[in-house]
Amino acid sequence: MARVYNFSAGPSMLPEAVLRRAADEMLDYNGSGQSVMEMSHRSSFYEEIIRGAENLLIELMNIPQNYHVLFLGGGASTQFAMVPLNLAGEKKKADYVNTGAWSKKAIAEAKRYLSVRVVASSEDKNFTYIPYLDKNSFDPDASYVHITTNNTIFGTKYRAVPDTGEIPLVADMSSNILSEDCDVSKFGLIYAGAQKNIGPAGVTVVIIRDDLVGNALDFTPTMLNYKTHVDNGSMFNTPPAYNIYIAKMVFEWIKEQGGVGEIQKKNEFKAQMLYNFLDDSKLFRGTVVKQDRSLMNVPFVLPTEELNKEFIKKSSENGLVNLKGHRSVGGMRASIYNAMPLDGVKKLIEFMKEFEKTHA
Ligand SMILES: *Cc1c(COP(=O)(O)O)cnc(C)c1O
Repeated sequence: MARVYNFSAGPSMLPEAVLRRAADEMLDYNGSGQSVMEMSHRSSFYEEIIRGAENLLIELMNIPQNYHVLFLGGGASTQFAMVPLNLAGEKKKADYVNTGAWSKKAIAEAKRYLSVRVVASSEDKNFTYIPYLDKNSFDPDASYVHITTNNTIFGTKYRAVPDTGEIPLVADMSSNILSEDCDVSKFGLIYAGAQKNIGPAGVTVVIIRDDLVGNALDFTPTMLNYKTHVDNGSMFNTPPAYNIYIAKMVFEWIKEQGGVGEIQKKNEFKAQMLYNFLDDSKLFRGTVVKQDRSLMNVPFVLPTEELNKEFIKKSSENGLVNLKGHRSVGGMRASIYNAMPLDGVKKLIEFMKEFEKTHA
């Protein structure tokens, strides 16, 4: 069967070139006579892979020298606990912004370890916008501020990084890391699960500023302490080795595309095409306020539930798969991460045009 255009929110498409290379190297990685899945993570072959991945990410994101890059297991969801456990400090209080389902999960987990203040929320309008924030929104005594830079389910993203002054800013960037330029120096800690823009599910990237390492609460499990992983170059235990190998190839692919700046231009072009169509359509409607629209996740609806159902079924029959929206928004959601080719977005728009013609 031909490859489909997969609009899933995650796991999502990987660049075809990366998959082909992985296939080529499956039985014999670089003359080692074995698969990366089988080799010792202490081997020189693997050392080169993990340090290579780290250096590529540093280069792509222009990560300053006073930050550490970690490749951890447990998905982004484990970070919901690791962040409060490691950053609670003596004050044991943190400010969170509630912009959707993932923020809520982060808040619920943090409440187990410290006192959480929800400083702003967009729940009143089913998370269709990003709430206004300024320096006064935050408690100067808070140990950190937590935001979700791109809201995968609701399709919103922050236009600008909030100014938290001296308070470390922590960001869940799972669904928009490497999709646009990002000034890492504005953040104390960034984390991202891999399965949207980085690689296969199961590895999580953490970028942490040096001064935030080493202050974990006493009862923090060894594996959940950032210091454990900083001190051991993400190799305290066996890391998600194969996933890191794929991530390295995705980083190389981004570099070949011209880097994050070029990827951003492509992403803006793809998203703008789709939003322009939605804005002009008499049948389809985007669900997010214009100024806060995500470049990665585009939710939209048709006037009736029946039409939504028909659209999802027919699009799938046409090789445009996983367009069903999340149940909390309904309708459809097109996730158009870095690896979604422009052609996939064009095909989707053509299909929507045709659907509109026959259903208007
Ligand atoms: C997908 C996602 C998560 C969850 O990631 P897991 O790796 O499944 O734990 C968390 N936050 C955001 C913003 C996401 O998009």
